[in-house]
Amino acid sequence: MDFDALFTAQLDALKDEGNYRIFAELERRCGEFPRAKSHDDEAPDEVTVWCSNDYLGMGQHPVVRQAMKDTIDSCGCGAGGTRNISGTNHHHVLLEQELADLHGKESALLFTSGYVSNWAALSTLGSRLPDCVILSDELNHASMIEGIRHSRANKVIWKHNDPEDLDRKLAALPANAPKIVAFESVYSMDGDICPMQEIVEVAEKHGAMTYLDEVHAVGLYGPRGGGISEREGLADRITLIEGTLGKAYGVVGGYITGSAAMCDFVRSFASGFIFTTALPPAVAAAATASIAHLKTSQIERERQKRQVAKLRRMLDQRGIPHLDNPSHIIPVMIKDPVKCRMLSDILMRDYGIYVQPINYPTVPKGTERLRFTPSPLHTDADLDHLVEALTILWKQCAIAHAVA
Ligand SMILES: *Cc1c(COP(=O)(O)O)cnc(C)c1O
Repeated sequence: MDFDALFTAQLDALKDEGNYRIFAELERRCGEFPRAKSHDDEAPDEVTVWCSNDYLGMGQHPVVRQAMKDTIDSCGCGAGGTRNISGTNHHHVLLEQELADLHGKESALLFTSGYVSNWAALSTLGSRLPDCVILSDELNHASMIEGIRHSRANKVIWKHNDPEDLDRKLAALPANAPKIVAFESVYSMDGDICPMQEIVEVAEKHGAMTYLDEVHAVGLYGPRGGGISEREGLADRITLIEGTLGKAYGVVGGYITGSAAMCDFVRSFASGFIFTTALPPAVAAAATASIAHLKTSQIERERQKRQVAKLRRMLDQRGIPHLDNPSHIIPVMIKDPVKCRMLSDILMRDYGIYVQPINYPTVPKGTERLRFTPSPLHTDADLDHLVEALTILWKQCAIAHAVA
């Protein structure tokens, strides 16, 4: 059987739709974020990254780098095992304490990534709570969807950010069944933020537990970087807060926080926690340093807000349509996969601007976009250069100047 022919046929279909993914090969330049060396022959040697999830540039912060280097020198590189079999390092325990404190919870549990934390925690809760029903926001991240699917629990999808729909759907379920309301704070594709207070109130009214993904908010929102739940003073009413160490904290890893009993439950039953090598101790130490830094330092968050607001204003002045939202994410709608890819290619090749096209299946067909995430380290000159380039391309490509 010609397996390669089978693979190629499906890849060709992706290419025909304009949805084939091409990775930009970069070398991030420490100390010069958001600058990176490009290994793409068509692009300039040095490019400016406009779509990083290292939202605050913490991946190159001196405090974070030093913690990682020191811990490699003191503990070596790998953890040496799963958490259960010789892999629990003192630095994992310190990080879990830091995370529990960040969200004001009794306990925290580390995973190798945010994806794994959602997948493992939702699979375990949904499969082990008898007759559990999981109510999932329709725009939840793939990692939550996969976790819910794997749990084989009953699933009910509620309308995006719609507490009334959630209320109706909760009311229709048996009163004594355990229910989990799963949702995100900042949705990263549209950059919208959930009505958290209303969702929490509806969940409380029906005795449901709340499962909140704060991946795109931790480090960025709240006086200590505890996310939208901290900013809104709602963290103590959320049963489980999940987050990543790979985005605003600039390292890698994922976690859940909540009651001691719940974290112990997931620790004891989650295959995705138990049967995998623990994160390197140096990664844990670097993440701890990053979290601790952002608990007290406001400079990064303030400067990021300033650059985000400034880019929005500049786009408005040039009539470049972007989704209006209250977050740090600026989606510029292109609404066509081929055009979206083409604009991204030209920005890279002619202007040294790297912004990845966001196409199906990450977003629905017809809502293709370029997604800009200004950081505290993008200068005013970077903003000018970007808006200048977009203005020229907008004229050339004759994309409607209407508001998206
Ligand atoms: C990126 C992301 C994750 C996964 O986190 P990683 O640490 O990158 O695996 C989970 N949820 C949402 C909403 C995300 O965008």
